[in-house]
Amino acid sequence: MTIKTYDVIIIGGGIMGSAAAYYLMQADSSLSVAVIERDPSYARASTTLSMSNVRIQFSLKENIQVSQYTFEILDRFEDEMTIEDRRPKIYYHRDGNLFLVDQQNQRAAEKAFELQKKLGCRIEWWSAEKIKQQYDLYEPGNLLGGTYGPDDGHIDAYAMLMAYKAKARFLGAVYLEDDVTRIKKAGGRVSGVSLASGQNLSAGFVVNCAGAWAAQIAATAGVELAVIPIKRQVFTLDTAVKPAGPLPLTVLPSGMYFRTETGGIILLGKSMVEDPVGFNFSWDEKRFMEILWPELAEFVPAFDRLKLIRGWAGLYAVNTLDGNAILGQWPEIKGFYLANGFSGHGLQQAPAVGRYLTELILDLPNALDLGIFSPARILEQKPLSEGGLV
Ligand SMILES: Cc1cc2nc3c(=O)[nH]c(=O)nc-3n(C[C@H](O)[C@H](O)[C@H](O)COP(=O)(O)OP(=O)(O)OC[C@H]3O[C@@H](n4cnc5c(N)ncnc54)[C@H](O)[C@@H]3O)c2cc1C
Repeated sequence: MTIKTYDVIIIGGGIMGSAAAYYLMQADSSLSVAVIERDPSYARASTTLSMSNVRIQFSLKENIQVSQYTFEILDRFEDEMTIEDRRPKIYYHRDGNLFLVDQQNQRAAEKAFELQKKLGCRIEWWSAEKIKQQYDLYEPGNLLGGTYGPDDGHIDAYAMLMAYKAKARFLGAVYLEDDVTRIKKAGGRVSGVSLASGQNLSAGFVVNCAGAWAAQIAATAGVELAVIPIKRQVFTLDTAVKPAGPLPLTVLPSGMYFRTETGGIILLGKSMVEDPVGFNFSWDEKRFMEILWPELAEFVPAFDRLKLIRGWAGLYAVNTLDGNAILGQWPEIKGFYLANGFSGHGLQQAPAVGRYLTELILDLPNALDLGIFSPARILEQKPLSEGGLV
């Protein structure tokens, strides 16, 4: 049987795999790139189950720079992804992000704010009074204030994914509906993959974009990846009192966050230590009713009357070393690249990740050096400073 050969095989066709395929094809249209995705409905992909938030508000320089690039891309994304007369719409709502500050997180918030300012970001420090003025439903209580990013906001994640996928295919990338069961290597190099359908494919480059499933597939190449799937839940609320206008993604010091969504509803979530590890997608009404609602109603008393419409659960691919991206070639296997462990903030990083992977694979100069996210730090057990789990 002949073995089909590609230049690059990408495992997983979510936002990372599709962005990587697009940037590779855009850089060199003569490449042969195959994206293997086992579920083209993306029902369990983190991309489609995310809160779709984009923000400048990080505390690690490179994460901020990645977001600066994302903002730049989002401004021209719909033009760039247009195919003939088909122009996608990703509904970028710049409703802002408001990170609330109390005494406990004050120092960290000030430090991050100064760094964002230094890097030229649009970011504002709001007093508790200003918060109340802007959003009169909020009850800041003992809060000291908050940091507000006016360019932060949200997009339609599914539309962004479909746009990257369509453009990548238009430029020549191939999407195969199949399950990668094994990564193959020979003499210290990656050599291809085996598929559940029985096919074998060969390639000089294999990129792991398998999201929450990344460690499973990496293990077939003998790579132990510190990435675990953790269930996160989001709730959809219909409040009796409607805010006068859009609410920014508002993040309480406890980590609970909420924002308005189209149709006057509120989306709310919170990462909690007891969130289970594993591939579990059930959501729990009681968690909202008994734990999150009282906390929400304390900060927004008008939300003491609401209807829980529905909820959903998706998986964070959590990098247990430091909660940040693992990006680049695995030091022990030439040609095996990782784009994993985004731990809850990967959607917004996809443009920079796709471009950077392309530069590494094609040996092009880096527009932005993301070497800090190198997989070598996993082997060396050297964590980065930013937690980045929101
Ligand atoms: C509830 C929730 C809220 C979030 N909110 C935000 C947010 O507001 N902003 C933000 O930036 N990020 C957010 N994230 C994180 C973000 O969704 C992820 O970091 C990002 O989508 C990861 O993209 P990915 O392509 O790596 O993974 P995925 O989208 O999960 O795609 C991986 C794909 O790989 C496929 N796959 C896996 N293994 C195989 C295999 N062996 N063979 C073939 N196919 C395979 C899967 O079917 C899947 O489609 C959130 C995540 C969750 C769960």
